[in-house]
Amino acid sequence: MIVGVLGGGQLARMLALAGTPLGLRFRCLDPSPDAVAGHVAELVVADYRDEAALARFVAGVQVVTFEFENVPARAAQWLAEHATVAPVPRALEIGQDRVFEKRLFASVGMATAEHRAADTRAELHAAVAAVGAPCIVKTRRLGYDGKGQVRLVPVPSLSAAIDAAFDSLRPAESGGLVVEQMVAFDREVSVLAARNGRGEVMVYPLVENEHEGGILARSRAPAPEVPEKLVREAGEFVSVLLRELDYVGLLAVEMFVKGDRWIANELAPRVHNSGHWTIEGAECSQFENHLRAILDLPLGSTAMTAGGHATMVNLIGSLPARADVLAIPGVHLHAYGKAARPGRKVGHATALAADRATADALCARVAALPRSSGSGLA
Ligand code: AMP
Repeated sequence: MIVGVLGGGQLARMLALAGTPLGLRFRCLDPSPDAVAGHVAELVVADYRDEAALARFVAGVQVVTFEFENVPARAAQWLAEHATVAPVPRALEIGQDRVFEKRLFASVGMATAEHRAADTRAELHAAVAAVGAPCIVKTRRLGYDGKGQVRLVPVPSLSAAIDAAFDSLRPAESGGLVVEQMVAFDREVSVLAARNGRGEVMVYPLVENEHEGGILARSRAPAPEVPEKLVREAGEFVSVLLRELDYVGLLAVEMFVKGDRWIANELAPRVHNSGHWTIEGAECSQFENHLRAILDLPLGSTAMTAGGHATMVNLIGSLPARADVLAIPGVHLHAYGKAARPGRKVGHATALAADRATADALCARVAALPRSSGSGLA
């Protein structure tokens, strides 16, 4: 049985690594011949809009899934007409646009940061006036890892800052802008949940996320110090979202916790970086549960494995020496096989421990290791 994955990066690679023991084979489509899923799966190298290549990609494939949400609309439409795809194209459409996401959240009763959409310079000035400073201007589409957003600083002039944001974010190329009120959150978390075609839902323990420079730096599960009532509510919200979308697969929803309230930020209709700890830290990983869901298999347990505390640290830019990481007991290394480059996610490490402080300390040791200038894979 072959699973097709649009995209051949580390998420596709980890899907293939999770599905291989289940007897599945993988075919990935990516425009880059260096796509790292190609080390462990068949790789079709082509542009996503090349219909002849899409036809080769889907031939003999059981189901097509995605490692990213910004699938060109024409490719998504072609695939939906020629293959079984999961999750549903509607979830991709919503996940591509921050305003659609917020509308969906609101439709199921989830709070969002106060916001206004803006397409023109005049609309941006009006939106900032309506939302009030401090605020963040984001592109509606194509933003990732903190790219495509500007925090408005009213010094020396708010009006000049708005104009500069408009010029740098190029709204005509990114589907317009949205202005969001700055939320003084206590913590950032994500809810990961899987749903299969029979409507079974499994929710992972809540994850706390820390970003540095807009990029996820660390995730901790279960999220410390979030009251049980809030954890339950978050899981319930996401279960409602899954049903509302008739969603099949793994969904990640990023939220802010502020006092005793949830504020939903964005969703990812795919496996997510904040779920990488589940490979060793949960009974069934997000990758395996995504595959189980899209192949209509029974879902696996999302409970923590023995130890009960997981911390994941992203390795960004370059990797430490493999031997240095493996010398730390209780730490699991994932090197993605990507060339080193500033700001690029090239691997991650997960530490499991019986208590939170130990798991965090193990990951801090990994983060402090000297980095090599290469990919660390030689
Ligand atoms: P996003 O691309 O929406 O995930 O934003 C990247 C990061 O910017 C988030 O993980 C937050 O740390 C921060 N951020 C985004 N939106 C807001 C907001 N409305 N208020 C405060 N911080 C935000």
